[in-house]
Amino acid sequence: MASGKIIIAIDGYSSTGKSTFAKLVAKGLGYIYADSGALYRAITYFAYTNGFIDEKGNVDKENLQKVIMNITVSFRTNKKGESRTLLNGTDVERQIRTLTVSNNVSRIAEIPYVRSFVNMQLRSMAVDKGLVMDGRDIGTAVFPNAELKIFMTASEQVRAMRRFKELQEKGEKDTFEQVLENLRKRDYIDSHRETDPLTRSKDAIELDNSSMTMEEEIEWLNKILLPNFNLKVELDKEE
Ligand code: C5P
Repeated sequence: MASGKIIIAIDGYSSTGKSTFAKLVAKGLGYIYADSGALYRAITYFAYTNGFIDEKGNVDKENLQKVIMNITVSFRTNKKGESRTLLNGTDVERQIRTLTVSNNVSRIAEIPYVRSFVNMQLRSMAVDKGLVMDGRDIGTAVFPNAELKIFMTASEQVRAMRRFKELQEKGEKDTFEQVLENLRKRDYIDSHRETDPLTRSKDAIELDNSSMTMEEEIEWLNKILLPNFNLKVELDKEE
């Protein structure tokens, strides 16, 4: 049986509940949680607000490349224990979750130099292991040697409804149809891009959570996978 800290890579389609699951797992193990999608979203927000993306969604790749090294994305936890994304020191957590960013992010994320830039930052988070990271290519490209890889899936309708409710709770006015369309479009671009497309790593364990509660997902993890590493997620563990 393996022991010691490990890297847990969680990949899957949009709105499969990866980040909620990953956050709970990290908290319950006392590990660091990293949201790789937030980096792509923050870069997209930067590109959008600085005129590198036009009305039609075309990206000025040449000029974005000239300034990308000046972008700093960092994370901080606020008093409520929520993780916030900072772009060049400014909290952009709300802005990066809007449908405008969601509609443009996959076009930014398919650019090879953007992926190299993000990967460099993601890998630097793993110095001491003890890391749970979610995304699209964590188990295939960012950490191909991660000790544990999970590939999350759920039906399209379930996923769109989850994201729709999330946006509603934040006061956004987008319709269910808009959310569903965005989800389909992103999944398509993410799985068809040339560089590190979204695909299940051969050694990833699939978790279809269409009709599972979060508690059931954690129970599954504790029963099936974590005993191999002598680990257990304690749901009520204090931070
Ligand atoms: O996870 P989230 O939905 O926030 O990710 C937003 C987008 O960022 C994805 O649709 C995808 O285009 C991109 N992404 C990626 N690779 C990752 C994480 C996210 O291409 N590892």
